[in-house]
Amino acid sequence: MALMTGKNIFITGGSRGIGFATAREALLEGANAVAICSHYDETREAALKKLNEEFPGRNIVGYTFDLETCAESVIGDAMKDFIAKFPDAEGKQHLDAVCSIAGITHNNTAKNIPEGLFEKVVRVNLIGTWYVDHQAALIMRGQKYGSIVNTASIAGVYGSSMGSGYGASKGGVIGLTRSLGREMAFFNVRVNAICPGVVKTDMVMKDCTEAAIAAVSAGIAMRRMAEPSELAKMFIFLCSDNASYCEAGLYHVDGWTT
Ligand code: NAD
Repeated sequence: MALMTGKNIFITGGSRGIGFATAREALLEGANAVAICSHYDETREAALKKLNEEFPGRNIVGYTFDLETCAESVIGDAMKDFIAKFPDAEGKQHLDAVCSIAGITHNNTAKNIPEGLFEKVVRVNLIGTWYVDHQAALIMRGQKYGSIVNTASIAGVYGSSMGSGYGASKGGVIGLTRSLGREMAFFNVRVNAICPGVVKTDMVMKDCTEAAIAAVSAGIAMRRMAEPSELAKMFIFLCSDNASYCEAGLYHVDGWTT
């Protein structure tokens, strides 16, 4: 049986990059329904169009909210709307998996970081993840099952020389995952985080020259950046029942990057 057969999965950051690849992988693995979320209608619409073309007739919906500014209840309402749309054969609503993938980065030293940017990055990456996790946990606690997968970064483990806000936010995501996972284990809800290395997405590639790609690749044991699909497979594994004993863990998918 495919890994996501019958499951409903809600993905923030699903409009592009790692989140989009995860939505696609969920559909390839037989998900019953997939929600992709973005802070821009245009990217969300473009992603929905692509997924509907590749997977016609499947249950794919989109939600728009800005994790920097939205109330936490907006995210919970989107989750509730999603599961109400796609109940199981007996009419029971279920939220099986939530991937918190949305995030932003920055490349500023302490000397040149604009006022407010540190706070913005922490707000989107850490507090945004908390809002998503909290709303998912409240629903899954009632169900007595579910899987939440967060997105950390090697910057949250080893630090980043030009991204104090980013490193702080991702370090916070690791602490959140370990704590919420310990708490939710009692309710059969798994909370884990993935730690990507350097992944070929718009976030990274938009300002990258060939020389920069070569320099970054030289610092990775596998001598190459990751494809988004290589991250997506780990997200879907952790969402699936095959990861039934994985709790409060941090899983590196980084080709051994330090
Ligand atoms: P990306 O820029 O391609 O996509 C980011 C996604 O997040 C988009 O769907 C966007 O709509 C959403 N998003 C951004 N700001 C938002 C906001 N304020 N509200 C709601 N949604 C918002 O990025 P990516 O490379 O796919 O990164 C995905 C995640 O992986 C991020 O959390 C990022 O920090 C993390 N990560 C990426 C890399 C990498 O090398 N690409 C490395 C480590 C960690």
